[in-house]
Amino acid sequence: MSLDPAQLAAPGVRGIQPYQPGKPTSELERELGLTGTVKLASNESPLGPPESALAALRDAAGELARYPDGNAYALRRRLAASLDVAPEQITLGNGSNDVLVLLAEAFLQPGLSAVYSRYSFAVYALAVQATGATAHVADALPPDHPEQPLGHDLDALADALAADTRLVYIANPNNPTGTWVGPDALRAFVHRVPETTLVVVDEAYCEYLRGRDYASALPWLAECPNVVVTRTFSKAWGLAGLRVGYAVSSPEIADVLNRIRQPFNVNAAAQAAAEAVLDDADYLERALAINAEGMAALRATAADLGLRVGPDGGNFLLVDFGRDAAPIYQGLLEQGVIVRPVAGYGLPGYLRISIGTPAEMARLDTALRKVVGG
Ligand SMILES: *Cc1c(COP(=O)(O)O)cnc(C)c1O
Repeated sequence: MSLDPAQLAAPGVRGIQPYQPGKPTSELERELGLTGTVKLASNESPLGPPESALAALRDAAGELARYPDGNAYALRRRLAASLDVAPEQITLGNGSNDVLVLLAEAFLQPGLSAVYSRYSFAVYALAVQATGATAHVADALPPDHPEQPLGHDLDALADALAADTRLVYIANPNNPTGTWVGPDALRAFVHRVPETTLVVVDEAYCEYLRGRDYASALPWLAECPNVVVTRTFSKAWGLAGLRVGYAVSSPEIADVLNRIRQPFNVNAAAQAAAEAVLDDADYLERALAINAEGMAALRATAADLGLRVGPDGGNFLLVDFGRDAAPIYQGLLEQGVIVRPVAGYGLPGYLRISIGTPAEMARLDTALRKVVGG
């Protein structure tokens, strides 16, 4: 072919840099000839998959020759009951990533715009860019903000709204900063946004904030028909590999998303497992407990090494190394520990570290002391 296919791609697609996933342990082991490496790079559950999900998968296996239920009747009903909404308000996705993209595809096009905060989840930028719409990136709070360093600045987000803005993405809590906005401030923000602009509140880590000054936007759906809440089974629920997430919205917004989603965007195994884990309160309790324990361990390591860490609004911490973190990332790799560089987010002096098991955190502690302290 004489013409570069990239030149044939839609204008929005041409400028996209692909999403950089965390390095898999198998890749590191191949590259460095190591075994038993530890991956703390993708905010996965250190508990492994829930037993309840594995049992449901075994039951579902006999039906794998058949297409999934395209309406996911059982899972949507079960979710609706647990969230106290109607099944018609739920749009399932192949991960919540899928619904974040569907929202952009459904509501954006060239000539329209979307707003999100600097240092917010990378998928928003990719989703918006692919549609050819304009992104207005609001400045974040400063790195030395006492509570929410690099967090969402709701005034800056409001200032970034334009007449052609159809979508605002707010990660609450946010990845990679671990910051979150309190319920009163967020609610006031939502009321400042015109009803013709959707406010997508991405609550991928909401489970981890139980008992904190945090509230889900779900109860506002009735009074704010332009709010969309997204959630996932990938983080606290330990099903990242199956890819299942969802949006909760007005039935009318769900109807729009339903027009463009792939008819079978959530596979049969994912539907069965997700439904089963919703009854597995024990798994969630254990996930929160092991997360709290690992957070404390990483905070202690960081304090010993004189490193500042961000807030704990998730299953990871953003660690500020105060200098180029690329050599530290590399040094940790050589110790068999994979963490997440965030230079692509404009944070070259930081690394994002997911919370693992106590054994993994101990291994990280040893590696960090060698690489940073040594
Ligand atoms: C991990 C993550 C998601 C999406 O994860 P899925 O596996 O696609 O459900 C969404 N938002 C944020 C902020 C995340 O960190």
